[in-house]
Amino acid sequence: MSINFSDEIFPDEDSEAVLLSANYSSEDANEIRLRPQSLDEYVGQHKAKGNLSIFLEGARRRGEPLDHVLLHGPPGLGKTTLASIIANEMGAALRKTPGPAIEKPRDLAALLTNLNENDVLFIDEIHRINRTVEEILYPAMEDKQIDIIIGQGPSATSICLELKNFTLVGATTRAGQLSSPLRDRFGIDLKLEMYTTEELQTIVERSAEILSIPVKADGVKEIALRSRGTPRIANRLLRRVRDFAEVTADGVITYEVADDALTRLEIDEIGLDSIDRRLLGSIIENYGGGPVGLETIAATINEESITIEDVYEPFLLQQGFLTRTPRGRCVTGKAYEHLGLKNPGNEQLTF
Ligand code: ADP
Repeated sequence: MSINFSDEIFPDEDSEAVLLSANYSSEDANEIRLRPQSLDEYVGQHKAKGNLSIFLEGARRRGEPLDHVLLHGPPGLGKTTLASIIANEMGAALRKTPGPAIEKPRDLAALLTNLNENDVLFIDEIHRINRTVEEILYPAMEDKQIDIIIGQGPSATSICLELKNFTLVGATTRAGQLSSPLRDRFGIDLKLEMYTTEELQTIVERSAEILSIPVKADGVKEIALRSRGTPRIANRLLRRVRDFAEVTADGVITYEVADDALTRLEIDEIGLDSIDRRLLGSIIENYGGGPVGLETIAATINEESITIEDVYEPFLLQQGFLTRTPRGRCVTGKAYEHLGLKNPGNEQLTF
């Protein structure tokens, strides 16, 4: 296998392009135009951004590369964007690869030895690289060197290669799955949070301007409210609503157009789609509200458990529709209320 330093990552997920999936789909290829280029353009994430700007300034003043950075949070929140901003802010080149593409230690060795001085190497889904590959990363991150074995059997010899200065930016949707030796080698650990409606409004307005889409403030707000706290979804909904605005109205995205379009797309007023509702509904109808295990839910609603965990659950947990307990997932009273179902837990006992 050869490693390509692609300009853009096209993950190998077999998940289909669901409208509300925060995963990257080919439809998002023009996302690149919408990607902020500098920290100033990067909306929200004040805590992560504030810390990062200090670390960047410190590294620039010392004339050193930035320490290795781990970015974690659900898909579509801006990890890849932040990695390219780090490279821009450091005046360095960005090299990107999906973690699962690095299959063998020699793939990683090829990647690392091809880096130029101060390059930023971005490994997406870093939790998915395997342990033997990961072990090459330890000395690379710590001492800028890798050991490679040449030849086989008794004649095999190990040689140590010095690497140039580089910054590794690792992105993961599952920080918990990272081994502690790997996690400990990142000097900077930044957790990305879901965006507020106001922040998403700013993002939608900015994207509408770049894509020359006429919008009204109430239309922008409606898209923001229904985007599950995720910029990638906000940008995707903006493009879909534009289609409705052009075909069914005069091209301008108003509240009425956005509401009509999103309702037709089965995205409700707080951003839940049919899969979210099926997920919550099936826990209520089939398992009395839970607790129920993830695999069982996945089989019941016919979705991959990894998709449920990475794409659907983060928002449902954040919004308080779902809780995770050691015995499985449970829906909350808020979920019953939202789905218009009677919550048996609220019934008064009568004697
Ligand atoms: P991730 O790598 O976490 O899946 P990306 O960095 O690919 O997410 O972000 C998806 C899209 O969302 C980007 O192309 C960009 O247009 C938009 N985006 C993400 N974060 C921000 C932000 N903070 N400000 C403005 N747009 C953003």
